[in-house]
Amino acid sequence: MPHKVKPRLEVRHSAVHGQGVFALVNLAEGDILIDYAGEVISMQEAIRRHPHDPNDPDHTFYFHIDDEHVIDGLQGGNDARWINHSCRPNCEPDEVQGRIVIKALRPIWRGEELTFDYDLFSDEPMTEALKARYACRCGSPKCRGTLLGAQG
Ligand SMILES: [Zn+2]
Repeated sequence: MPHKVKPRLEVRHSAVHGQGVFALVNLAEGDILIDYAGEVISMQEAIRRHPHDPNDPDHTFYFHIDDEHVIDGLQGGNDARWINHSCRPNCEPDEVQGRIVIKALRPIWRGEELTFDYDLFSDEPMTEALKARYACRCGSPKCRGTLLGAQG
């Protein structure tokens, strides 16, 4: 009999933003849930490809590995690209043997939406207008109001 692995995650409509990724089973703290898959490209190439959707220019499927490397989740990506941002996330990205993975920060209950802190970087000066372009509506009591990180 072939071994069937029960899927642990599911993509469906989210109250936070468009699609989201939800736990189908209870997950333990420290569990590696999914790879952030996609094509690894240079920052320069990422800027050239941007935006993915001209109608929604600030929404991309990029994951910034470091100052020079970006994962483009649109090319060869997986469900990880649908994980939404939260200022009080239950997951965090981590690097394991050169792969970027999404790891549970705490126990996650079946039915919960997975989130991580995008901590976005912009080379534009931080202004109220820039923050508003990347507005966060995660609804957490500690929401900082933007997807941009403190260094942005
Ligand atoms: Zn927030």
